Amino acid sequence: MGLMDGKKGLILGLANDHSIAWGIAQVLHREGAQLGFTYVGEALERRVRPLALSLGATLIEPCDVNSDAQIDALMARTREEFGQLDFLIHAVAYANKDELNGSYLKTTRAGFLVAMEVSAYSLTALVKAADPLLKPGASIITLTYYGAHKVMGNYNVMGVAKAALEASVRYLAADLGPRGIRVNAISAGAIRTLAASGITGFRALHKNVAEHAAMRRNVTIEDVGNAALWLCSDLAGAVTGEVLYVDAGFSIMGPRKSEE
Ligand code: NAD
Repeated sequence: MGLMDGKKGLILGLANDHSIAWGIAQVLHREGAQLGFTYVGEALERRVRPLALSLGATLIEPCDVNSDAQIDALMARTREEFGQLDFLIHAVAYANKDELNGSYLKTTRAGFLVAMEVSAYSLTALVKAADPLLKPGASIITLTYYGAHKVMGNYNVMGVAKAALEASVRYLAADLGPRGIRVNAISAGAIRTLAASGITGFRALHKNVAEHAAMRRNVTIEDVGNAALWLCSDLAGAVTGEVLYVDAGFSIMGPRKSEE
């Protein structure tokens, strides 16, 4: 018996086998969930399709979260294939590379709007479109980062977008709570992925985290997948509107001791 036996859901944000979405997908599949996946563009489809098929997915659809038409088409296809949804994983973010270095002060209006639309508004757009399909007890999860709360070098506009995303989680949780639907965020520690490679100095940050996190290590996509499993399963049935840190204790640490 798996914790997700009989449950069906969508995972948005799979790019390759380094993606956090892949860590989550593997764990949910292992526990018996039936999964649907999305991709953006043909180049990513070539990577996503074989991974999705390896987990037995029968729903593999295009979905650029900036397009209401593509979101609606995804939900129509989901209704055909799954009927209803038990979970929705939103592991999507984007900001122009130019915005992810140097000072936040130089953020452009266009760059701000891109980051906010893809990385924050998309959760609301997806949940709104998925709403008629969501079963009582359904679980929605998004991915956020500590840079929403603390100034992390070069994270800039993405930190602002993640703060908006975390606030959206609370408002969506309040709207959907009366129907027993839960909305939470996982704040993952630094992981080397395609998206992370766009942040200037990420490699150094990754090394620094492993040296200074409470557990003196980085987190893996499996660590995030296991936390997502708990949030998706009925075990977290009374948990909503939360930001769960899965960061090996990086965010609890204050300044280093001077001898270190
Ligand atoms: P990733 O590059 O594997 O995944 C990012 C995904 O976003 C890709 O699949 C990409 O196709 C998708 N995406 C971008 N623009 C899109 C659009 N317009 N429409 C639909 N999809 C779009 O990187 P990842 O690190 O696994 O990122 C997943 C999530 O985890 C992101 O929200 C990211 O901010 C978050 N996160 C990452 C880290 C980290 O250190 N890697 C830490 C905390 C949170």
